[in-house]
Amino acid sequence: MSADWIDISVPIHTGMTHWPDNPPVKVERMLDMDAGDVCNVSQMSLGVHTGTHVDAPRHFLRDGISVERAPINALIGTARVIEIADTRTITVDELRRHDIQRDERILFKTLNSSRCWQTDDFIEDFVYISQEAARYLAQAHVQTVGVDYLSVGGYLTDGPETHRALLTAGIWIIEGLNLSLAPPGTYELVCLPLKIAEADGAPARAVLRI
Ligand SMILES: [Zn+2]
Repeated sequence: MSADWIDISVPIHTGMTHWPDNPPVKVERMLDMDAGDVCNVSQMSLGVHTGTHVDAPRHFLRDGISVERAPINALIGTARVIEIADTRTITVDELRRHDIQRDERILFKTLNSSRCWQTDDFIEDFVYISQEAARYLAQAHVQTVGVDYLSVGGYLTDGPETHRALLTAGIWIIEGLNLSLAPPGTYELVCLPLKIAEADGAPARAVLRI
């Protein structure tokens, strides 16, 4: 990429980490020039919540809108990378220090970015947004929340609660970011989820420009 863009997406590859009850990820050649075919064509098998992806409200809300109707404005525009010091959860106490404003697009950079993408194993104790902090973000009327591992909520704690608090407030969720190359600060965000009809989420490419 050109020097002023930072790619904050993770590569999709066979055997990569995924949420434990979601499908495994496979990308393989079904036509292969090395095998005499006229061109190369790969096929993939994966869940829509693989790697860097957007959660649509329908992920946790039965009648919520699906991902192909994601408002472009929620996913393209000014965004702030906030560095989180807590190595377990994102808390209300820590959020209060950052003067979060209505309609902000906030990306949380935690220990996850440097720790969790080094391995294809699922990391259970990743840093997540506590359900209290999710309600705080909902009351602050932010527009978008991004996190640097596979869920806004924890593995066994605050999963549904944190998702519902954000999604019922109309907040768009980006998950699976790698923010290790993005120092805290203000950027232009571009994140476009694939237009998968009726889907509860979709893989996305996400980039930042200083
Ligand atoms: Zn999610």
